[in-house]
Amino acid sequence: MADILSGGIAGIGFTWKSCPSMTELEMSSLDWVVDLMGLPEHFKNSHDGPGCGIIQSTASDSTMIAIMAARASHVERIKAEPTFMKWVSETGVGKTLKGIFDRVKVNKIDDEASGIIAPYFHDPAVFERFVMYCSDQAHSSVEKGAMLSAVRLRKLKATRGFLGNYGVTNETLQNAIKEDRARGYIPFIFLATVGTTCSCGVDQIDELGPVCVEEGLYLHVDAAYAGTFALCDEFKYLTRGMEHVDSFNFNLHKAGMINFDCSPMFFKNGTHVSRYFNVDAIYLAHEYQSTAADYRHLQVALGRRFRSLKIWFVLRNMGADKIREYLRRTELLAAEFAKLILENGKFEHFVPQHLGLTCFRLKNSTNADNEKLCNAINDDRRIHLVPSTVHGTYFLRMVVCSQLTTLDDVIYGRDVIFEIADRLF
Ligand code: PLP
Repeated sequence: MADILSGGIAGIGFTWKSCPSMTELEMSSLDWVVDLMGLPEHFKNSHDGPGCGIIQSTASDSTMIAIMAARASHVERIKAEPTFMKWVSETGVGKTLKGIFDRVKVNKIDDEASGIIAPYFHDPAVFERFVMYCSDQAHSSVEKGAMLSAVRLRKLKATRGFLGNYGVTNETLQNAIKEDRARGYIPFIFLATVGTTCSCGVDQIDELGPVCVEEGLYLHVDAAYAGTFALCDEFKYLTRGMEHVDSFNFNLHKAGMINFDCSPMFFKNGTHVSRYFNVDAIYLAHEYQSTAADYRHLQVALGRRFRSLKIWFVLRNMGADKIREYLRRTELLAAEFAKLILENGKFEHFVPQHLGLTCFRLKNSTNADNEKLCNAINDDRRIHLVPSTVHGTYFLRMVVCSQLTTLDDVIYGRDVIFEIADRLF
């Protein structure tokens, strides 16, 4: 309904003035989300500080914005206070960076004859040695974000730990920062994942956050799927440590009973970040721009849809408790499947079931066996499984992610898997 209304209103939302209600409702509805999830108050639009929330289209967009914001912030620091780089002389990085400050372009027309404009915050001469980090379990959109932001990416090996699943440890992050500085690179952001795509593993923000703060790295959290579960008290461990985070994003359109697209993104210091995306044209200027929020400064596109109607309608229609009920049912059904799949003694869990996801494989088997089984299940067409691999081990994945899924469906899924496994092995 909200999408139909958004389409019907046909607002383009270029600026606050072009559709004030679009911006105002987005600001309010994201404050409600902060309250419902117990996120830090400083993420609220109504908070006195510089924090804010915005609805992006996707997690990929948010990742890209976070990388570019972190990159610009680091460029700004280097340009503003070259002493920030005093470790340069200690590590020998200085040789690699020789001349970097001479080449820095300021925010002006670079060349009067041609009119070429050099970007100040997005100055490639400064960020050419930048390196960013993520887990080797991060979603492919992180690699895409790094690629399009033209920065180096180092994927850190995730190890089994928290919840028996895969995540990056402080030690791994700290070692990488040390090694890369010695190699002449400039680490600038750690892009953490809460709820990895392959196995729903978690990079522990309460542990990694202090490392980022100490080392001066921007911290973005991609919680595309898992984030919504923090609406429930028992899943609040997912958002522990959020006070250390520079930006946090999750897709309400995944587990939040809201249709695509609705991807809230919160910034600790949105006012600061908005300067990196600011281009002012006379046709966009309005008399309220010094007092009203213009979301165009926190996204790539200028125009935007009235996405907050979806949060408002869903909360008004069903209430947060209905979403919580759905999240809990999802998790319970997944836990049920995790038990059922062990019943014939042929299967084992690859990692413990987490939220709606169960990862499993045949016991004492090869990757080829599991791939053969997965292909046979999908060729059969009664159910569909999307497999994955972690560090070379292939496994099958069953996820409960629909409001319509019942225990009968879960039992049916188990029966189909057992029947086909019995036929093949
Ligand atoms: N991050 C994670 C952890 C995901 O699981 C996904 C999609 O499955 C994404 C990012 C990409 O999401 P989007 O389609 O919103 O860009």
